Amino acid sequence: MNAPETKVPRVVIIGGGFGGIELAKSLKKAPVKVMMLDKHNYHTFQPLLYQVAMGAIPADSIGFPIRRIFTDQDNFRFFLADVQKINPESNTVTTDIGDIDYDYLVIATGSNTNFFGNKEIEHFAMPMKNIPEALNLRSLILQNLEKALVTKTYNEREALMTFVVVGGGPTGVELSGALAEMRQLILMKDYHGLKKQHMKVYLVEGKDKLLAAMSATASKKAKQYLSEKSVTIYNGVHVQSYDGYELKIDDGKVINTRNVFWAAGVKGEVPDGIPQQEITRGNRILTDNISRVNGFQNIFAIGDVAAMITPDMPNGLPGVAPAAIQQGQHLAKNLLHIIKGEPTLPFKYFDKGSLATIGRNQAVADLGKLHLYGFVAWLLWGVVHIMSLAGFNNKVGVFMTWSFNYLRRNSDNRLVVRYFNTETRMTDPEAK
Ligand SMILES: Cc1cc2nc3c(=O)[nH]c(=O)nc-3n(C[C@H](O)[C@H](O)[C@H](O)COP(=O)(O)OP(=O)(O)OC[C@H]3O[C@@H](n4cnc5c(N)ncnc54)[C@H](O)[C@@H]3O)c2cc1C
Repeated sequence: MNAPETKVPRVVIIGGGFGGIELAKSLKKAPVKVMMLDKHNYHTFQPLLYQVAMGAIPADSIGFPIRRIFTDQDNFRFFLADVQKINPESNTVTTDIGDIDYDYLVIATGSNTNFFGNKEIEHFAMPMKNIPEALNLRSLILQNLEKALVTKTYNEREALMTFVVVGGGPTGVELSGALAEMRQLILMKDYHGLKKQHMKVYLVEGKDKLLAAMSATASKKAKQYLSEKSVTIYNGVHVQSYDGYELKIDDGKVINTRNVFWAAGVKGEVPDGIPQQEITRGNRILTDNISRVNGFQNIFAIGDVAAMITPDMPNGLPGVAPAAIQQGQHLAKNLLHIIKGEPTLPFKYFDKGSLATIGRNQAVADLGKLHLYGFVAWLLWGVVHIMSLAGFNNKVGVFMTWSFNYLRRNSDNRLVVRYFNTETRMTDPEAK
């Protein structure tokens, strides 16, 4: 008589970001079938999106094909699919390529830009959450400088050359620092006729300091470095409206600008099908301390989309890559415990520290009680980011590009390959 066949459980992971990739890798030797679904066929290294937007590095160098990561993993399958809905009653997910069954489902869909419900700002301001959006920023910056060269009116030229970054977290600080550096090092080399003093860079932040999640030293130094680069910083004020021409701030200031870059917040990218009562502040899914979604036995959420609220972490984990990576690794172990009927282990977050760069030779770093800034922090920032990039080619490529850029005080990726249509606010392949 044949032994009864035991079914190999299928773990479906939605999202090939930091959390999803780490989870799938950690399940390499597990007796499960791993199926990953993502609407992109590549993993994105979001921390360097602003460098793509500024034309400092090529877009391809911060993406890596998901299939290529798992070439040697026999229990892994990938499908390019946009997940539309989760159906817990039938243990299926609905996608644009059909319905897919799961035994265990892990939601690792990350987050998206939060415009806090302001539709006008959402339409006219530029988000930067993925590679296509970073390329839109790159095109808009370069197109507007081209227009500034030929425009006849002073007001229009001023608006085309005024850049407003909203949000004083790491992304906003890095982007405004890079814009100010472009003004300093590139503008007059590339655009004969435009003057440094005509290009304005503003950074608007609602809190009374920059880098609010970092130490007081980091916050103070970031402000000092940006001020030295002539970035105008408005703290403790909020953007009220932006109609594509005038940006209004709640203290009465009005800035005439064609370039508003929104780095003021994110919200969880929750697929339909999760009950509303399990979704909390920041549109994140409430989980217990093993990443299991409240109210479900076989649905889990990790990374930016999850809110693991514990007594140690009353606001959940920070929305950073190490938190997603650690949750992915930990969930892999717990899934095996669950499958074997063993007790699970609660997740503990290990804070590795925070880094942000403001520009050439300037960065800030919090490593526990140690606060670094200046050249040492900048070197550390560079090493950490190179090491964290996916793929050997990307690591070497970015290192070489950075080295040449540093020595020449210039870069080679300022290309408008996808024209950004400022009327439709979309990429326009037909336009010249
Ligand atoms: C500009 C920027 C700079 C950052 N800088 C840093 C930094 O310096 N250090 C740091 O630690 N963190 C940084 N972060 C945050 C960090 O990138 C996130 O915390 C991290 O990416 C979260 O990982 P995740 O796995 O939860 O989601 P993500 O890495 O965002 O991955 C989510 C994946 O899900 C996919 N997906 C989403 N919805 C669907 C769907 N419906 N169907 C199919 N697939 C879907 C997406 O395509 C994506 O591949 C930065 C983020 C941004 C935007």
